[in-house]
Amino acid sequence: MAEEKIMENGGLGATGNFIHSYIQEDLKGELKKIHTRFPPEPNGYLHIGHAKSICLNFGLANLYGGKCNLRFDDTNPTKEDVEYVDSIREDVKWLGFDWEDRLYYASSYFGRYYEVAVKLIKEGKAFVCDLSAEEMRQYRGTLSAPGKESPYRNRSVEENLELFERMKNGEFPDGSRTLRAKIDMSSPNINMRDPVIYRIAHATHHETGDAWCIYPMYDFAHPLEDAIEGITHSICTMEFEDHRPLYDWVVKEAGYTENPPRQIEFARLGMTNTVMSKRKLRALVEDGLVDGWDDPRMPTISGLRRRGYTPEAIRDFCERIGVAKANSIVDSGLLDYCIRDDLKTKTKVVMAVLDPVKLVITNYPEGQVEMVELENNPEAPQLGSRMAPFTRELYIEREDFMEEPVKKFFRLAPGKEVRLKGAYFVTCTDFVKDEAGNVVEIRCTYDPETKSGSGFEGRKVKGTLHWVSATENIQATARLYDYMMLDNPEDPNGDMIMNPNSLEVRECFIEPVISEAQKGERFQFMRNGYYIVDTKDTSEEKLVFNRIVSLKSSFKLPK
Ligand code: ATP
Ligand code: MG
Repeated sequence: MAEEKIMENGGLGATGNFIHSYIQEDLKGELKKIHTRFPPEPNGYLHIGHAKSICLNFGLANLYGGKCNLRFDDTNPTKEDVEYVDSIREDVKWLGFDWEDRLYYASSYFGRYYEVAVKLIKEGKAFVCDLSAEEMRQYRGTLSAPGKESPYRNRSVEENLELFERMKNGEFPDGSRTLRAKIDMSSPNINMRDPVIYRIAHATHHETGDAWCIYPMYDFAHPLEDAIEGITHSICTMEFEDHRPLYDWVVKEAGYTENPPRQIEFARLGMTNTVMSKRKLRALVEDGLVDGWDDPRMPTISGLRRRGYTPEAIRDFCERIGVAKANSIVDSGLLDYCIRDDLKTKTKVVMAVLDPVKLVITNYPEGQVEMVELENNPEAPQLGSRMAPFTRELYIEREDFMEEPVKKFFRLAPGKEVRLKGAYFVTCTDFVKDEAGNVVEIRCTYDPETKSGSGFEGRKVKGTLHWVSATENIQATARLYDYMMLDNPEDPNGDMIMNPNSLEVRECFIEPVISEAQKGERFQFMRNGYYIVDTKDTSEEKLVFNRIVSLKSSFKLPK
């Protein structure tokens, strides 16, 4: 279903959004085919904000019969690593997108950027500047005051060529010189005030090693990357809107005048109860506050995958949020909605008791094991049925019993009758408490006439409880996750505060059928939520489940 939707409208919500209008307009002119790219910097793991960009770029290419490149924007050697390159490839594939043979590295164009820089110098459009970073800040001016020209601005072409070459040859230390575009120090747009386009960094690059010790700045490299690859629509987030004149300047001055790439900005995805920037996510990992980049609470693609989210649900989410120019924060409940919707008819429902209390059926034969049949998912008959063992001693959820029931409590209480799912009606006769006053055993009698499926119509009960045999079961660990961050957004340092209850670990009992579960397999635990068998921590001895999402939700789809 989600698959079809993506083909229909490019994974962007309504086809009427502004990016579609731009593209449709461009396709009426000389442009024959569109070509987009997803350009992650390999300095961290992808998060759901990136998923939005992936769905957008690959989705548009699919929709308009164009192409989309996966490009590693790896022009900054210091923070990048192949570990991230590998994870990004895996994540994009897992989300369901295919770059085919179009995988590129911005670092493979280092020679080309250098040629363009030399061309600019020769045309008097770039110069080597010796101002320090601090001095440059002082010269830059402000939004209301123009900048001041660098004293090095009028160096001769020859001197600039020589100095730039010596920069390249490693003759100068980091930070001592830069190459700057010569544009306009009085431009109202600060990005146009002789921006730095090359800096010195004696750093080993994960792809090019020590071949270079000068590296292009993002604003210089990115438009060239797009132009070199024949990108027609370069989609980025809003913070680059003010950089667009520089983007266009670089493309034009480099000589890419035929169908130049067009930069289009859209609002970055933000979500409630989480953080969405590689920098902040890295801090959580490095401070040991989460169990790595793929901690199931993380909004990273690898975290969402481990948590049990499906690519279909994430694409559906990206589709529903659509694209706009105005920044907004999306309710995390929408992502929960999407995964519930996707798993509703895909998963088997099993009975698991997460907070057990013993229930003894005093008139049921001791030692008897009766196999009762249960549908695997009443909403998906094709998933078939299974047998579950029913015995004299069972576990039920502690919250399904009340010593003194409140109004409208239709579950178990002294003298009350309920149905045990797929089995019999039981009536509570009494219960046992320990010294601390906790109920430790509930006693019931059952009515043999009431077996499920027997056609019994003598009387009705309002409550149906799930249960697990106290003797025939599998013990497992269930990790109940909640949102990673508190909603009340920020502490005095401007950082969000982690939710102290974002993880609760429970030992639980599950029907024996669960012993067949495979790593990565998803289930619904009846009346509780959706779970996945954790791929990392599950062992031969012990199943570990991550709760993907609970069944309960206060989230309402906006109309
Ligand atoms: P971060 O701030 O998380 O490090 P980034 O923008 O630096 O993100 P890149 O690797 O440079 O990360 O991003 C690759 C692409 O993904 C860019 O085109 C960027 O605009 C897009 N992108 C990143 N974050 C988001 C987001 N929250 N919503 C939508 N698109 C995003
Ligand atoms: Mg970045």
